[in-house]
Amino acid sequence: MDLGIRGKRALVCAASKGLGRGCAEALAEAGVDLVINARGAEALEAAARAIEAAHGVKVTTVAADITSEAGRADVLAAAGDVDILVTNAGGPPPGIWTDWDREDFLRAFDANMLTPIALMQALVPGMIARGWGRVVNITSQSVKAPIPALGLSNTARTGLTGFVAGMARQVAGKGVIVNNLLPGIHDTDRATALDGGVAEREGIDPSEARSRREATIPVGRYGTPAEFGAMCAFLSSQHAGYMIGQNVLLDGGATNATF
Ligand code: NAP
Repeated sequence: MDLGIRGKRALVCAASKGLGRGCAEALAEAGVDLVINARGAEALEAAARAIEAAHGVKVTTVAADITSEAGRADVLAAAGDVDILVTNAGGPPPGIWTDWDREDFLRAFDANMLTPIALMQALVPGMIARGWGRVVNITSQSVKAPIPALGLSNTARTGLTGFVAGMARQVAGKGVIVNNLLPGIHDTDRATALDGGVAEREGIDPSEARSRREATIPVGRYGTPAEFGAMCAFLSSQHAGYMIGQNVLLDGGATNATF
């Protein structure tokens, strides 16, 4: 399928590895020039050069913390007018509900709610002025079904989801399509770290922690960044024009729900 976005420009945040990288790769495959961001410059440069070599698009890098005001300003200055925005950042740490104080919540709100909102507020007006835009927010299955150990994620991302539900409808008539993409467990460094935490707590091998988790997923495995990226590219495409403020769950069937 031709996604109809060849020659457009996208900003993909937190994209040197994992799900953001999967989204960047899929957009590049569709012919989209990229601005990609992460904190670590070395992995970011390596990702950019690999994407350019594989897909022949132009990739600009900005090494910065997207959750800080200064980092966002650098990224936005380099991004300029983009047609597609993919928001993403690292996820908050696990714990139990009594672990977190006000500062922990503020950090999670900053990273996983206020940062994507600030990026949309900065870039969507330009998309509206040009009459075309796409936004994909990487959130989590935790907005659909809570993950008790990820209470900070449950809280901050649900706030973002509520914001998008209203905002997406305010901009839909102006050519800008905003949706959220909800990962269940995917094979990335984040998943390895979460499995490592479970292994440590339960005194088992990390591979055992992974096998136990895979056994709870109807499809029997973790998702891949490539599968995730393909859905992101579709939501960023010409074909997504009638899909407004939706929460698309990619979880291998792990969330046991009819809808
Ligand atoms: P990952 O494999 O750890 O990759 C994270 C990427 O984001 C790296 O490129 C990292 O590079 C960059 N990054 C992290 N914090 C950043 C920041 N403050 N500013 C700029 N770049 C930043 O993680 P992932 O699995 O792709 O997860 C992406 C998001 O999806 C996270 O919010 C995670 O909680 C959520 N999620 C993931 C899963 C899963 O199974 N993988 C499931 C549900 C939700 P640097 O470290 O160099 O900055």
